[in-house]
Amino acid sequence: MARDRSRLTTSLKEDQMAKVPDTEENMSRCICGTCPTYPGEGGFFCAKGKSGLSVTRKGCVCGDCANFQEFGLEDGYYCADGAAGEGPQ
Ligand code: SF4
Ligand code: SF4
Repeated sequence: MARDRSRLTTSLKEDQMAKVPDTEENMSRCICGTCPTYPGEGGFFCAKGKSGLSVTRKGCVCGDCANFQEFGLEDGYYCADGAAGEGPQ
């Protein structure tokens, strides 16, 4: 029984952290490549996590992205701060 309980705890934690499902469809919506802050490679940072490159904040266009609206995101700058649900609140 202890094992079942730990599995439940894990899945609840994942639900809280993974705000944007890491799917091909969601990735195809990402508009990071059009952003002045785009660090030059990668993308879909709200699901994949922050960039390994240094990021200079020059504005964030996440607010114009379909994922931002559909998944109720509130922050932006996921390339600098980490995936939605993981970064500073
Ligand atoms: S919300 Fe931002 S990081 Fe996430 S898919 Fe859209 S543009 Fe990319
Ligand atoms: S997460 Fe936001 S700031 Fe970073 S590249 Fe994508 S749109 Fe630009």
